[in-house]
Amino acid sequence: MAKRDYYEVLGVGKSASAEEIKKAYRKLALKYHPDKNPGDKEAEEKFKEAAEAYDVLSNPDKKSRYDQFGHAGMSGAAGGGFSGGGFSMDDIFSQFGDIFGGHFGSAFGGAFGGFGGGSRGRRVNRGSDIRIRVKLDLKEIAHGAEKKVKINKQVACKECGGKGAKSEADIKTCETCHGTGQVTRVTQTILGHMQTSSVCPTCGGQGKTIIKPCGVCHGDGLVKEAEEISFKIPAGVSEGMQLTVQGKGNAARRGGVNGDLLVVIEEEESAELQRDGNDLIYSLFISIPDAVLGAEAEIPSVDGKLKIKIEPGTQSGKILRLRGKGLPDVNGYGNGDLLVYIQIWTPKKIEKQEREMLEKLKNSQSFKPSPDKEDRNFFSRMKRSFS
Ligand SMILES: [Zn+2]
Ligand SMILES: [Zn+2]
Repeated sequence: MAKRDYYEVLGVGKSASAEEIKKAYRKLALKYHPDKNPGDKEAEEKFKEAAEAYDVLSNPDKKSRYDQFGHAGMSGAAGGGFSGGGFSMDDIFSQFGDIFGGHFGSAFGGAFGGFGGGSRGRRVNRGSDIRIRVKLDLKEIAHGAEKKVKINKQVACKECGGKGAKSEADIKTCETCHGTGQVTRVTQTILGHMQTSSVCPTCGGQGKTIIKPCGVCHGDGLVKEAEEISFKIPAGVSEGMQLTVQGKGNAARRGGVNGDLLVVIEEEESAELQRDGNDLIYSLFISIPDAVLGAEAEIPSVDGKLKIKIEPGTQSGKILRLRGKGLPDVNGYGNGDLLVYIQIWTPKKIEKQEREMLEKLKNSQSFKPSPDKEDRNFFSRMKRSFS
């Protein structure tokens, strides 16, 4: 039987991107998967054909050889992989781990229960991750923080050592799979016999069954327990960032590795300082006399109060840049700045006496606006500072 062109098999053009090739294969693999088409030889063939095409077209090396020489470029030692039916169902399933990742199980429920175990040796029991949110104020973000949280999580049952059985003698080798955790189905195809493996339905892949379950965890091997966990948060983090505290998630069922604790950063809004990347912005209101005469002002920062000088004749809208007084970069690329945005406070209510003073100033020549070019450049300055 003449081999079909790999691009034709996947139904994509020669210029298809890696993503398009993957997508096309995924679609075919789902359609023709043996678990979905039990006993259907034609579907099995199509499934295998698609897997073979994908194996070549998803590998840049094999793909360029195939593009140049066609199927001829794929045979022999140099071709590797597919000549002569060396491609087993296990190989196909091992591709699935990469292409479908963890989403596969959740998207298709139990329909493909066998998948995880398809690639033998890759299966590792892993506890689930725990995600928490941690709120930090600007000072903690500026300097980094050490947090301690109490988390209710699954840990190995101490009564049975996580084994789930009342005693060692209550753990027996599974009779269905004889301890392998897998059941294998062999089918005959034109290309020879083909093996499909799936997780043993009796023991759920554990290879062991429990006669008398542990009285504390009821055979689960896991119990809920509160644990206090401390971790450090580096300086410069921002809203939505996720940190991983390895191995501090839920324990795995009957041995295996712990999941992780995922810490999502929440930024507490500051009433005074606004964050803009690593820069901080502070709106400083000064009085009309201070703007005219000059003054000293106190402004907040992540290192406490700072004193700044207001020059005589300061215009509203002036921006002072205090270099390095912003937030540290989370990757260590230095500090941002603290931008002080000066606005002149216009009183909303005034006394009779004040009104009289202002009436006098009204016609004074010095109080008539006479902006120079620099003063007029206010908007471009704003844009520069805040973009
Ligand atoms: Zn079993
Ligand atoms: Zn137990």
